[in-house]
Amino acid sequence: MIDGGNVGEVATFRGTLADVTAQVLVVGSANADLVVTAERRPAGGETVLGGDTETLPGGKGANTAVAAARLGADVALLGAVGDDAHGGLLLDSLKESGVRTEFVRVVSKPTGLAFITVTPDGENSILVSPGANRTLRPEDVTAALPGARVMVASLEIPLATVEHAVTTAAAAGTRTILNLSPVASVPEETLAAVDLLLVNQHEAALLLGKAEDTPVRAPELSGLLDLGPSTAVVTAGARGAVVVEADGLTEVPSPSVDVVDTTGAGDAFAGALATALCDGAALPDAVERAVRVAAFSVTRRGAQPSYPTVAELKVSQH
Ligand code: ADP
Repeated sequence: MIDGGNVGEVATFRGTLADVTAQVLVVGSANADLVVTAERRPAGGETVLGGDTETLPGGKGANTAVAAARLGADVALLGAVGDDAHGGLLLDSLKESGVRTEFVRVVSKPTGLAFITVTPDGENSILVSPGANRTLRPEDVTAALPGARVMVASLEIPLATVEHAVTTAAAAGTRTILNLSPVASVPEETLAAVDLLLVNQHEAALLLGKAEDTPVRAPELSGLLDLGPSTAVVTAGARGAVVVEADGLTEVPSPSVDVVDTTGAGDAFAGALATALCDGAALPDAVERAVRVAAFSVTRRGAQPSYPTVAELKVSQH
């Protein structure tokens, strides 16, 4: 049995309302990333021999929480892992980074897995088996929310839980960030309760009704606000990010860096953005901080292991 939560899908959380003071609440997935390199990805019916498999802590929710904790945020993850070795790996990584885990339930289902194939061109293809993440229920949000100033939710967990998290957080006066990744069809009333919609440029294209690989011109991004959120931020890889507000767009360029591995860059961005907003930064300043953190993360391998502490960021700027 893993230390860090309760086993069983109907188990209650260890946390009590009295000790809930996390300022940033992340609602999202925790997956073990099984990463294998291969010369090419197999076609249907084909077998390809790859390299050794690496098992790394990942999942959008866990990554975001770790990124925030490394930057000094008081952050809790609302999530679920299985009572297995992968769940142990995830809980260890969360705790080592300083993420509060009292709302990470340990259930009798396998921990979520992401099967990641990396080819020599650096391209990833990812198959996610949600496992324990599927057990996160809307009512689980109730215990975790009090005290949170900022709530970040991402997909890879049941949509009903995401919807409930956003609407109850908004009703409680908590600032809501929805990282709509991977893109899902979210009801209008949920999007209307979102303070900040965070997507990458491919997700923005899909939301604006274009093919995923259609380049979106910056002025078109203001169309994201027509979907309901008060503001939006669109990440644009090496180019940085665009802030979309009712009174116009602000482009925030990225520092140029030597890229080693972009896995989890968007989650680093989300964690840094939530932390900066929780600290009271204005949106463009918060995005500038998030761009710097995400740029740092692509200079190291992996997702969670690549995220900087405040001290590392300071050193990198001198
Ligand atoms: P995702 O990881 O969700 O696909 P992006 O590719 O837009 O999202 O990356 C998120 C953020 O990570 C960017 O806004 C940027 O700050 C940083 N980033 C990603 N790729 C690079 C890169 N090649 N050079 C510098 N920063 C990068």
